[in-house]
Amino acid sequence: MNFDLSALRQEFPFFSAHPEWIYLDNAATLHKPQAVFDAMNEFYRSQNSNVHRSAHGLSQQATTAFETARTTVAQFLNARFSHEIIWTSGTTAGFNQLVFGLMGPVLQSGDRVLISSMEHHANIVPWHIHALPFGVELDVVPLTADHRFDMAAFEELLQLKPKVVSISHVSNALGHIQQVADIVRLAKAAGAIVVLDGAQGIVWQRIDVQALDVDFYLFSGHKLYGPTGIGVLYGKTRYLALLRPLLGGGEMIKTVSFTQSSWNDLPYRLEAGTPNIAAAVGLGAAILWLQQQDLTAFQQHKTALVQRFYDGCKQIPLLDLLSGPTTNAGIVALNLKNEHPADLATLLDQQNIAVRAGTHCAMPLFNTMNVKGSVRFSFACYNSFDEVDRTLAALTTAVELLSE
Ligand code: PMP
Repeated sequence: MNFDLSALRQEFPFFSAHPEWIYLDNAATLHKPQAVFDAMNEFYRSQNSNVHRSAHGLSQQATTAFETARTTVAQFLNARFSHEIIWTSGTTAGFNQLVFGLMGPVLQSGDRVLISSMEHHANIVPWHIHALPFGVELDVVPLTADHRFDMAAFEELLQLKPKVVSISHVSNALGHIQQVADIVRLAKAAGAIVVLDGAQGIVWQRIDVQALDVDFYLFSGHKLYGPTGIGVLYGKTRYLALLRPLLGGGEMIKTVSFTQSSWNDLPYRLEAGTPNIAAAVGLGAAILWLQQQDLTAFQQHKTALVQRFYDGCKQIPLLDLLSGPTTNAGIVALNLKNEHPADLATLLDQQNIAVRAGTHCAMPLFNTMNVKGSVRFSFACYNSFDEVDRTLAALTTAVELLSE
């Protein structure tokens, strides 16, 4: 490990407030470093004002802080322009805007969209609401026998000429890292607009949207050490320009009469209403904090945590491991034979180990695997080997109790 773990943990106030917890629910949301609280506090204490609208100095300061955060995100993703960063309230909101916005200008009845079996509901249900009722057809990349993204089947499905391919960068249920460079290249060669759900991928590796040549990339601030209530819909200018706004109201217009309105330029056209200004500032601070860290060391540490946990689980009888340690962004999903995942999670909770049980907003994936759900252990850079060992000990006791 190339970083000082105890110094790192000290930057996260949660751990000193709650030393009793082992937090392994990092795929649901991450803890935040002090730098994020400081930035948000400072905004509310000394700059609080609405953005863009008023001519007064405070509003200008708030607007500067808000737009600086947008530029920070744009630079972090290596987007060509800041206006390619659309603030949303999270990945889910981003997908709803995206899918609604594509309907008509890009997608019409009879067009096809390709997703994978591993998608989160946020990349499934918006298609059901906004696209399928208008005649769009959804194709799904199947899983291989070992529950991975089936690249050969993907290439075959591309022959159906989907207009949009929308795939998660990292599976939130299993932790698999998809070969996004190949997926984007093949999908674009087949003429599709390519969307990546980066909700889990953004924290795993630096994304260069231009090098990757992806058309849309979505993520949530709270899964990148930032606050809840803020997210990003990145899109190439030419595609964002096509999107119909899902939300109408203040800020997104140029002119309004009682009978019609004309829309503002990007990015404001897709950002109706007062945004979550403090959260945008907080996300900017999270990214600046992250840029001072050694991301490669974080990756290596998480990989080592997963490997150690996985190896330990293999020694515990009756556990079914659904995800392995290779090409894994930090998630081990497992089940105890014949037991409901919630029972195991409850016993761990009683020992202050936070994990998640269920189908993790990926119900179709579990149906495809013919598994009722899983217990998900998701690791972050701030977890320790000691926590892995204590969790393995608690898991062994819980398994013994449940299999008595
Ligand atoms: N996609 C993936 C892969 C996710 O893990 C999540 C969050 N669990 C989402 C989308 C939705 O993110 P949010 O709930 O922050 O909108």
